[in-house]
Amino acid sequence: MRVIILCDMEGISCIETWEQVNSGTAFYQESRKLYTDEMNAAVRGARAAGAHEVIVVDCHGAGGGYTFKSFLPERLELGAEYVFGYPWARYITPFEQGCDAILFVGAHAMAGTPNGVLCHTVSSESWHNAWINDTLVGESGILAAVAGCWDVPAIFVSGDDVTCQEVRTLLGAEVVTAPVKIGLGRFSARSMAPKDACALIEMRVAQALSMRNWPKPYKARAPVTFKVELATPDRVHDFMGRTGVRIEGPRMVSSTADTFWQAWDQFWYHH
Ligand SMILES: [Zn+2]
Repeated sequence: MRVIILCDMEGISCIETWEQVNSGTAFYQESRKLYTDEMNAAVRGARAAGAHEVIVVDCHGAGGGYTFKSFLPERLELGAEYVFGYPWARYITPFEQGCDAILFVGAHAMAGTPNGVLCHTVSSESWHNAWINDTLVGESGILAAVAGCWDVPAIFVSGDDVTCQEVRTLLGAEVVTAPVKIGLGRFSARSMAPKDACALIEMRVAQALSMRNWPKPYKARAPVTFKVELATPDRVHDFMGRTGVRIEGPRMVSSTADTFWQAWDQFWYHH
């Protein structure tokens, strides 16, 4: 069994402010340990459930040289491999080779979610909303849709309570959750102790991988349109002239293709 663990920092227990997740602060250095420990717990759970290949992707844009590189190398759990510094939601090699499931650790809710701790979608400054066809999605939805292009299901999520609910609503009640904190606002939470959060994640990941009734892969109906409402009109200039990408309004950009991966890929790159 080959699995991918996609990790973000905003949904880790005891994290609820930007200072904790943006590089260059003392808080951030403290958060790296919490982040690494919860991810390690997921690796142990996956290996206990029989995953022979565990690939962990750091998906947290911490800023500066720490973007997609927040794990503390000396603390990394043995028996897994770690992807650092790769552009967000683009590491598809394991999907192409054949992969059984993806798991989310430390996920956060989509932009605009009441009581979603540090909720945002891709960019807290430049994006308001994102849709796949007519479904409003957050980052977990985008990542699940990429994996779904290769028929890989998302089967586990840890994060705050509303993030766990968001993923279940989108992908099905079969998704196993580990709610490590209850959001009390965008910058406040009632958290488990980090060690309790790690124990919960390790147990639930093992449980998720042992289950037979996994949720179905997220496959958006073709043709697939990925649409983003940007925060300000100047942002649309970045997307002009890209194949398959349309400027729908002063702040609205869409990309349409046969599969979500194609729509996502052409949204970011000139072809
Ligand atoms: Zn993040």
